[in-house]
Amino acid sequence: MPSFVRVAIDLPAAVAASLGVGDGLYDYRWQGGPIEIGRFVLVPFGARIVVGLVVDRVDETTVDEPRVRDVVASIDALAPVSPDWLWLMRFAADYYHRPIGEVIVPALPAPMRDAARYVVDREAVAEGTTPHAVLPAIGRAVKRAAKVSPAASSGAGPVAPRRLNAMQSAALAAIEAARTGAAAPKPMLLYGITGSGKTEVYLRAIAAVVEAGLQALVLVPEINLTPQLAETFRLGLPGVRIGSLHSGHAAGERLRQWLLAHEGEVDVLLGTRLAVLASLPRLGLVVVDEEHDASYKQHEGLRYSARDLAIVRARRGRDGRPVPVVLASATPSMETWARARNGRYDKLVLGERAVADAVLPTIRLVPTLGAATQHGLTEAVRAAIADRIARREPVLVFHNRRGYAPVLACGACGWVSACPRCSVNAVFHKADRHLHCHHCGWRSRVPRACPACGNADLAAVGRGTQRVEEGLAALFPDARIARIDRDSTRRKGSAAGLLEAVHVGDLDILVGTQMLAKGHDFRNVTLVCVLDADSALYSHDFRAGERLFSNLMQVAGRAGRGGPRSVAAEVLIQTRAPEHPLFEALVAHDFERFAENQLAERKAAGLPPYSFQAVMRAEASEAADAIAFLAEARVVGTTLLDEAMADAAIELYDPVPMAVARVANVERAQLLVESGGRPALHAFLDRWLAALRARRSRIRWHIEIDPLDI
Ligand code: ADP
Ligand code: ZN
Ligand code: ZN
Repeated sequence: MPSFVRVAIDLPAAVAASLGVGDGLYDYRWQGGPIEIGRFVLVPFGARIVVGLVVDRVDETTVDEPRVRDVVASIDALAPVSPDWLWLMRFAADYYHRPIGEVIVPALPAPMRDAARYVVDREAVAEGTTPHAVLPAIGRAVKRAAKVSPAASSGAGPVAPRRLNAMQSAALAAIEAARTGAAAPKPMLLYGITGSGKTEVYLRAIAAVVEAGLQALVLVPEINLTPQLAETFRLGLPGVRIGSLHSGHAAGERLRQWLLAHEGEVDVLLGTRLAVLASLPRLGLVVVDEEHDASYKQHEGLRYSARDLAIVRARRGRDGRPVPVVLASATPSMETWARARNGRYDKLVLGERAVADAVLPTIRLVPTLGAATQHGLTEAVRAAIADRIARREPVLVFHNRRGYAPVLACGACGWVSACPRCSVNAVFHKADRHLHCHHCGWRSRVPRACPACGNADLAAVGRGTQRVEEGLAALFPDARIARIDRDSTRRKGSAAGLLEAVHVGDLDILVGTQMLAKGHDFRNVTLVCVLDADSALYSHDFRAGERLFSNLMQVAGRAGRGGPRSVAAEVLIQTRAPEHPLFEALVAHDFERFAENQLAERKAAGLPPYSFQAVMRAEASEAADAIAFLAEARVVGTTLLDEAMADAAIELYDPVPMAVARVANVERAQLLVESGGRPALHAFLDRWLAALRARRSRIRWHIEIDPLDI
């Protein structure tokens, strides 16, 4: 008797929709013996043969039976994905309210899911050629994964292991106990100030997991910027096979790395957010470094939080048995902190800097209100920089705005440089004499004169990193100055080069955006200057304060990490609001005080983590259409609540234009949905989204769960 399999294949959503295949899965007939769920298969689609993944076996199909086609072959050269992995995909599909097929397909590396690449010759298949012969790319990769080029093992000679300090030992022991104990482990927050040796702790935990024959998944925010971390892993885990997955890999390399992990040929997978979706058959430990980092959130497609999925993945674990997950941060997210506080997570604390002579820098606030500045720098900041240059100690200058000036303006008529396609200003970049839109990528040559009135005298208003760099060069003509931001580091490896230059003392001043702050271990830096931190204090985004605090803590954490130096390390922060409570906590290096304040405010306002949110966004060429769609959606939702879900405490807010309403000529609006309970929210979303999908509107819309920017 033939049975049927449900297969995930990569087809544009529009094609799936036109076929009425809501879940993104397609039924095929399987004629052979028993086929495992999780097998990769070749299936016909239209005139082509494509790669798919068997997600389910069913005895009956809802498709008209004569139209159901046969699976061409099972790709036996590839191991099947595990039930744990498929469980994770199902969880993500449910939680983020996406069709399962749309979750699985992007979780596979591009070359594998790009159906067009694998249009295969039907006759070759009919002749029984083996799958890896007809699928050259996959075949080669599989063979490589198996034999030709195994995962590079770290190979480096073992470095003498450091003696852990008492707090590190206790944290490591707790992770070990969680891994080997009988009870299902709680997620663990490894909370330690910058430089307290968190990396050292989880490296040891990883070594033990690998020793036990298992795999560790380590998520980091931005791998291109953390060559030091990769190096630390290589040195700290001698003989261990370390794989990596991030968007910086070329497609072929990404496929190879994915397969190595999938076939169990790597012991440690180090990667950015997408690595949380990797197939790891022997998962034994999950680590999320800098768990608070916003880059764990994906902003298109599935719109998942890799941090949150990491926790869920660890709870499911291996063969359904939970494995430990360690969330490391000096400034945990409020969500994580609240759970560590109420005991849902275990808190492991590292309370001091690990290197003997490393102390926390002194943080000083430099009031700018009424103060004279040159090139945006106060006297105090200029004097401190001059002092460090004289001592040959490099200085970091943090300014979180790239470009030369945020806007170009005409003093005669009031014209300002705006992006013609977005509702934002176009940023003046002096190096290439262009205006750039940082939202849609639009670029245009700087006009010679005001396009509105012809006035030749256009003024750059405000300050970006390029202008700061120029100002520093004018103030310190003999200093060696460089800039690190997205514009200066387009070339691969250039960021690493700049950071290395600071490290070896080839630079006197490095100016940069938050790229400066991401976990680099500078031994010789004794001064960090923050030029303008104020805009976040007055933001309408309730998470702006949290982000600012963590950014500044992180930036401050670059100073005073030990090593030879002649003065105490300090951080100078220019601000118009030195009395702000956020700064008070910062000066005291008191994250806990800051977090208590934040949580109290959030609780009073009913904001996350004390409520759960989803946001529906609509896009149209006319703003009114996007708003009208959301208003209608709101009516549908309200009716549903009145009729069927009266008990669910769900709040549907009025639709509003997004903060940046127009991007690339698309008008965007959003509707916030909030509830005090997560299950209630998701039960509502299930019904509401089903009702809206059935209405088949022309308007493009999507739902985002646990949004970070609203
Ligand atoms: P974190 O990840 O908490 O910012 P790291 O793990 O990078 O801190 O450690 C900061 C520095 O302290 C590194 O140079 C590391 O090699 C060093 N270090 C960590 N643990 C110890 C220890 N037990 N003894 C001496 N140095 C240590
Ligand atoms: Zn003008
Ligand atoms: Zn634009």
